[in-house]
Amino acid sequence: MPEMPRILVTNDDGFSSQGIAALMEALEDIGELWLVAPDGEQSAVSHALTLDRPLRVRRVGERRFAVNGTPTDCVTLGISNLLSDRSPDLVVSGINRGGNMGVDVHYSGTVSAAFEGVILGYPAIALSQVVGEGMSWDASAALARELTVWVLEHGLPKSTLLNANVPLGPPRGLKLTRLGVRRYTEGVVEQRDPRGRRIYWIGGGEPVWEEIPDTDFHEVAQGFVSVTPLHLDMTGHHFLDELKDLRPTFLDHPNGDRSTL
Ligand code: MN
Repeated sequence: MPEMPRILVTNDDGFSSQGIAALMEALEDIGELWLVAPDGEQSAVSHALTLDRPLRVRRVGERRFAVNGTPTDCVTLGISNLLSDRSPDLVVSGINRGGNMGVDVHYSGTVSAAFEGVILGYPAIALSQVVGEGMSWDASAALARELTVWVLEHGLPKSTLLNANVPLGPPRGLKLTRLGVRRYTEGVVEQRDPRGRRIYWIGGGEPVWEEIPDTDFHEVAQGFVSVTPLHLDMTGHHFLDELKDLRPTFLDHPNGDRSTL
């Protein structure tokens, strides 16, 4: 019998979250699952790597580990130490409690964990479920399973991951999307503490996004599952040409022109 594909499962909501349990259950018979996840909530930690204190790993079951670090720590540590005998075939991050769309992917620990897999050279999927009244993990779990099977069969291009978002309620279908544009409203709430000093809470407002067809925000709001391929290379390729006019005067050889050296 051929070896089961090895799948590293992580998230940013913590190893005991409902979303990761739904994900593990959805994937349990299609791969050898290794759960390496933060020991608590790590949402919005982005791609943070812990460098200023030691990390501790707690074994919580067979091939199940809780780490007192970030999602990125979990992927790095998981691949280099816990799975050291054989590399994973895939990294799956989620299922996040809450959507990760548009510019929010930059804050997301869920998406960053998947990107860490990509940086280390493995295909990766990030999954998120929009939350609200009547939410269920059923559709996102079914999607997790099908995307995992698809990626194991087809692979992904270098430096690319799949970012999937599942709407509230039964999905109307699937849309391939690009990142949408979020508008931040009342992003920071100012209040007073009991001693009258000013305090601030980030993230107070409800998300509002631009109504742009074919973007993740828009299609998920219309009730579709959204799948966006994301690329690690953030270079603004379209602007490189225009930048050729950039000639800092303090440099003898602007733009790296060393032909006269
Ligand atoms: Mn989260």
